[in-house]
Amino acid sequence: MARIDITVSEVGPRDGLQSIDRVVDLETKKAWIAAEAAAGVPEIEVGSFVNYKLLPQMADTAELVAFACGIDGLTIAALVPNARGAEAALAAGAHKISIPVSASETHSLKNVRRTHAQMIEEVRAIRALVDAKPEGERPYFEAGIATAFGCTIEGHVPLDTVTRLAEELIAAGAEEVGLSDTTGYANPRMIRDRIRAVHRTVGADKLTGVHLHNTRGLGLANAAAALEEGITTLDSSLGGLGGCPFAPGASGNIVTEDLVFMLEAMGLKTGIDLDHLMQVRELLMAGIPDEPIYGFLPDAGLPLGWSDERPDAA
Ligand code: ZN
Repeated sequence: MARIDITVSEVGPRDGLQSIDRVVDLETKKAWIAAEAAAGVPEIEVGSFVNYKLLPQMADTAELVAFACGIDGLTIAALVPNARGAEAALAAGAHKISIPVSASETHSLKNVRRTHAQMIEEVRAIRALVDAKPEGERPYFEAGIATAFGCTIEGHVPLDTVTRLAEELIAAGAEEVGLSDTTGYANPRMIRDRIRAVHRTVGADKLTGVHLHNTRGLGLANAAAALEEGITTLDSSLGGLGGCPFAPGASGNIVTEDLVFMLEAMGLKTGIDLDHLMQVRELLMAGIPDEPIYGFLPDAGLPLGWSDERPDAA
């Protein structure tokens, strides 16, 4: 297998699709996932095991996990809002499960009607479910700290809240925590400070991924800052699908095409073929024709001499 320096984790089928009203059919999702995997994307979050009555966009997540399990070499991630969702994800065979826990307790109460203490209980329950599986069949279990850089309800989220939560989540049985800029409030300095603080608190091996949005245009600057702090997994969505309900015209997650371009231009290997990835974008646009999608690279094209040798990362 080709060397991969940075893992680009595609979250469009989950974060992108859950942010739009339209329900995309199963075949379109399957074609999207298969095409991105064929372009070399190593990890895809295919959906969320949330109550489908609340989020009909995610009703076919179990079928998608089963389908994606047939794709050689692909890591299949799924979001689980609670232990019940984790049970479904385990039954479906997801390789990686992630529970979002909001650093802002107000946000947590509003979104999932649970306090921090109740969320920690869910994490403990999920740990027990994972451990009950035979070794070799256990998914990697991560807790994503949502609103880790600020909240649309509480505003400023103190750093102490984030580090304390990280500590509690690891103690409750999450293998790793992630930091999520759910609201697009982060800036590069904040990214550095918060990653450093969490690394000091739980260890650098227990925070290796961040989830960034481009709401205020700082997505790639934040990604670059995260790389300097040793982060090795970055979430993004193809075409920045999903937009942002609070900021019309702003993309949702950072754009996979632009992120892969930045990384490869810096000599960091992603295992992803950019020309091939651009074709997947065409497929996505054809499959979901009336949703706006974003990205600079697709408009500007690859720079002259792109196919020539680029510097190898140290
Ligand atoms: Zn997100």
